[in-house]
Amino acid sequence: MDSKEFKADMRYLPIFIDLQNRPCLVVGGGDVALRKAEMLNRAGATLHVVAPEISSQLATLAAQGNNHMYKRGYQQTDIESKTLIIAATDDMTLNAQVYADAKHANIPVNVVDQQDLCTFITPSIVDRSPVVVAVSSAGAAPVLARQLRAKLETLIPARYGELAELAGSFRQRVQQQIKSTGLRLKFWEGVLQGPVAELALAGQSEKARDMLEKALQEGVAEDGGEVYLVGAGPGDPDLVTFRALRLMQQADIVFYDRLVAPAILDMVRRDAERVYVGKARADHAVPQPGINALLVQHAQQGKRVLRLKGGDPFIFGRGGEEIESLAEQGIRFQVVPGITAASGCASYAGIPLTHRDYAQSVRFLTGHLQDGSLNLPWMGLLEKRQTLVFYMGLVGLAEICQQLIAHGRDSDTPVALVEQGTLRSQRVFVGNLGNMAQKIATQKVRAPTIIIIGDVVQLHNKLAWYNNDYVAQ
Ligand code: SAH
Repeated sequence: MDSKEFKADMRYLPIFIDLQNRPCLVVGGGDVALRKAEMLNRAGATLHVVAPEISSQLATLAAQGNNHMYKRGYQQTDIESKTLIIAATDDMTLNAQVYADAKHANIPVNVVDQQDLCTFITPSIVDRSPVVVAVSSAGAAPVLARQLRAKLETLIPARYGELAELAGSFRQRVQQQIKSTGLRLKFWEGVLQGPVAELALAGQSEKARDMLEKALQEGVAEDGGEVYLVGAGPGDPDLVTFRALRLMQQADIVFYDRLVAPAILDMVRRDAERVYVGKARADHAVPQPGINALLVQHAQQGKRVLRLKGGDPFIFGRGGEEIESLAEQGIRFQVVPGITAASGCASYAGIPLTHRDYAQSVRFLTGHLQDGSLNLPWMGLLEKRQTLVFYMGLVGLAEICQQLIAHGRDSDTPVALVEQGTLRSQRVFVGNLGNMAQKIATQKVRAPTIIIIGDVVQLHNKLAWYNNDYVAQ
């Protein structure tokens, strides 16, 4: 093992190696060696098997084609000119020797079940050749990787490989005939999500081929771009909807906010262009009219534009303004709702926003200060059985509490401040209208935060399940 500490995000780089007719060495003659030899054989490698004793099954395999078998102990020269080496013996010293020799010669080596003696590891595989999915947990939890593999097995139709073959056989012609990359992408998406795919996956390969032929003759029309206004939820990537995910994976360009968590942005199609458009309270990277214009401009270039926003786009998200300008320009769009911060934070903090015994209604407000003062309809916020949720309320927290008391709400009305709700860094601070501002004053609170006011906050002690350790009373 290298003495260098690994701090990389990814412990291993997944790659697919072309082993067609490449000489590969397997040291070992038992069952494990057999499994590894079979795997290499499936990938077209030329096998060189070395061991004093070789099981009859492995010997049969090693006798096929150009494969070689050496019934003797391992020698250092065995590694020469090999593309890949696998050691599968129960002799630790020998395994270590093979590893050292291979490493010295810079040949990728894997000692079975000894991760510290591997320069590559073999993943769990879902084989729908030519489509192959490889799953690895970098040795951390092989059982988890196998379970995931099993899930994928059930998820990926058995004839997926046939569909890929069919697409592959048209690839060159499509490339020649549809010159624009964007249109080509659209063509393939139509084919691979539509009736051609249905037919191929149902085993009707001839019909599928005819239909694909017809589709290619008809071609794809330039049909202008569209905009997806998508709510990404409050932060936890698990709270992204299926539809959001699908559109995220189709987009050509994404405009995203400060509130969109990096883990969510990672789920956007890898090739999509990423543009940050703000906005922290005082930092409007791109002012709102600029954003509206950008969406229009890129859609008019025929792109699939993803406007990704934290929470729900129609709740304090200015989503309405953005689609208004799209509608005026006649640009197609769709809006995908997201879990708004109030719901996400309330659930993860164990605070039901309504409750038969404590609150019959809930009200979402913005605590954004305008001209230094809060312009809110205080008289409408006094009802004891109404939960109040303030977005963007941290700066105004003291004033909000004061005003509510001044207008007549009980000073012991419970208040919760949820910081970075639904994220692993979530913290919940609990107090009441009388003491909350003072409690928060000594804390280093980081954005985003949301304020929940009302008797339902009492329940969080009983119902909080997420990062409960961080609850500060
Ligand atoms: N459209 C968003 C709200 C945008 S306004 C939605 O539906 O959630 C931005 C405010 O949302 C922040 O100031 C904060 O009050 C709140 N917010 C968003 N994500 C949050 C989170 N993970 N935790 C706490 N508050 C959050």
